[in-house]
Amino acid sequence: MRLVTYRPETSAAARLGAIVDGLVVDVARLASASGHSLPDNMLDFIDVGTDAVRFASKLIEARRADWPPGVATPLSNVKLLAPIPRPRKNIFGIGLNYVEHVAESSRSLDTSKDLPKEPVIFSKPPTTVIGPGDAIEHNAKITQQLDWEVELAVIIGTRAKRVSEDDAMNYVFGYSLMIDLSARDCRRAGQWIYSKGQDTYAPFGPCIVTADEIPDPHALDLSLTVNGVVKQSSNTRHMLFKIPTLIADISKGITLEPGDIIATGTPDGVGAGRNPQEWLWPGDIVDARLQSIGELRHPVVAV
Ligand code: MG
Repeated sequence: MRLVTYRPETSAAARLGAIVDGLVVDVARLASASGHSLPDNMLDFIDVGTDAVRFASKLIEARRADWPPGVATPLSNVKLLAPIPRPRKNIFGIGLNYVEHVAESSRSLDTSKDLPKEPVIFSKPPTTVIGPGDAIEHNAKITQQLDWEVELAVIIGTRAKRVSEDDAMNYVFGYSLMIDLSARDCRRAGQWIYSKGQDTYAPFGPCIVTADEIPDPHALDLSLTVNGVVKQSSNTRHMLFKIPTLIADISKGITLEPGDIIATGTPDGVGAGRNPQEWLWPGDIVDARLQSIGELRHPVVAV
């Protein structure tokens, strides 16, 4: 399933939807029209887990030729929000997780040229999240080095504490796209949270594709353009630490919970690694794509 969080009208409350045939299908209303019950928001739906996915899929197949009244809306008539507009806790970010990005970072930033021996983990607060089309804030009082990073995001489905690599993929609910914006001049004493944790620094969406529809998340093309010019273009197969390793490693010490998000790192082509270096400025348009997931397009605005 392709799951979204959407607002049917500007004033309405956010709801959970599934994209089917160019329509947004209201999952809770569909269940209710069929005499059943399913959550009306993404986090509660993830909490129910694979049972919810299977049941909603079954309902959709049964009614897709004949939607009950008020259940299906053309995608063009709704506003998509971030799939999880307000994560329950910080997003887990993975740094230096593509070989070429390690090399470019060591040339331009304060990181080592040696490949990390274990995942480099940082975090981004829930207030970093914005939805499709929302503005990326550029605060010139704080940064003159705002940079882009396109990434595959993993959404955890089941509570994971000390899970093995062999078992780790059973804890994944689905996948999405995230841009890990980074103010390179806001790193402090090697700490990244102020650099990567500022408001609007995690554009997220446009949907979560459930894990059953992406059998190999390590074979997805991902790319990013700024004002139409390609800056990053790679494939998730080049990840240094793959998803099972990341889940096993994090869950050794930090329990992963339903709805938690892991941004799995970015390939090369970031602004800091270019010669001369390039940064985002107000008026720029950032466009990120991830195969099987979709596209995010965001303006950069001065605040
Ligand atoms: Mg990153």
